Amino acid sequence: MIASDLQSGVERLGDMIARAKTIVPFTGAGISTECGIPDFRSPGGIWTRNRPIQFEEFVASQEARDESWRRRFAMEEVFAAARPGRGHRALAALHRAGKIPAVITQNIDNLHQASGFAADRGIELHGNTTYARCIGCGQVYQLDWVKRRFEADGAAPNCTECDEPVKTATISFGQAMPEDEMQRATELSQACDLFIAIGSSLVVWPAAGFPMMAKNSGARLVIINREPTEQDEIADLVIHHDIGEALGPFVGN
Ligand code: NAD
Repeated sequence: MIASDLQSGVERLGDMIARAKTIVPFTGAGISTECGIPDFRSPGGIWTRNRPIQFEEFVASQEARDESWRRRFAMEEVFAAARPGRGHRALAALHRAGKIPAVITQNIDNLHQASGFAADRGIELHGNTTYARCIGCGQVYQLDWVKRRFEADGAAPNCTECDEPVKTATISFGQAMPEDEMQRATELSQACDLFIAIGSSLVVWPAAGFPMMAKNSGARLVIINREPTEQDEIADLVIHHDIGEALGPFVGN
């Protein structure tokens, strides 16, 4: 059912939240646009400017690695300045209230952790861009280290331990999904009685399978997104409005 207006959508969502025992939110780039981080697919989104670099290209080409890191450094001020928005804070309030065990996110911006979810309560399906890892041995690197090496050598660095390339700790297109996170997201989706998909176009798979999985496991499904998604028709409630406006009333004090 598509909410006829914001007010009735928020009221209905409030009822569903009050009745639910276990709520699992699933978030996409739309929850962070009010924090200044552009999404991928809206007009002006990241993809209107840059073609994504596939994992295979990153592994095969120094030029692709250099370009990937140049793009990451160009975004540094945006990521560093971003603070949790109303959507993040509302979910954190429901987490503190014991309604939300963990959040599943496609986002890489660390804002759920910044709003109060412990590291093991933020299930990052696509990793995290606020630090880096060696793609060979998994050694963690801070972005400052990468930047210093890039500036000194004029090229993206390799791992000091095993000499494999160092990449932001994100999952690129063509890269394997993280197994533990997929497993935990599956368990959460199957065990909740209310699943809320927030700010995702629901076109990136396998992540987009979780709303449907929750619905098929008996949960009620809410979708909050400015634009229609392909899963609107199976949702119990669809709110086609701004996320900050829809979740702001749940931020609490
Ligand atoms: P997407 O760009 O495909 O979709 C975002 C959706 O959010 C769009 O449908 C848009 O209409 C909606 N939206 C944007 N701002 C909104 C607002 N204020 N209120 C309501 N709706 C709003 O993003 P996606 O589905 O997350 O998939 C893209 C992939 O891009 C993700 O897997 C993620 O890894 C990555 N990504 C992450 C970030 C981030 O971490 N903040 C930013 C860009 C892309």
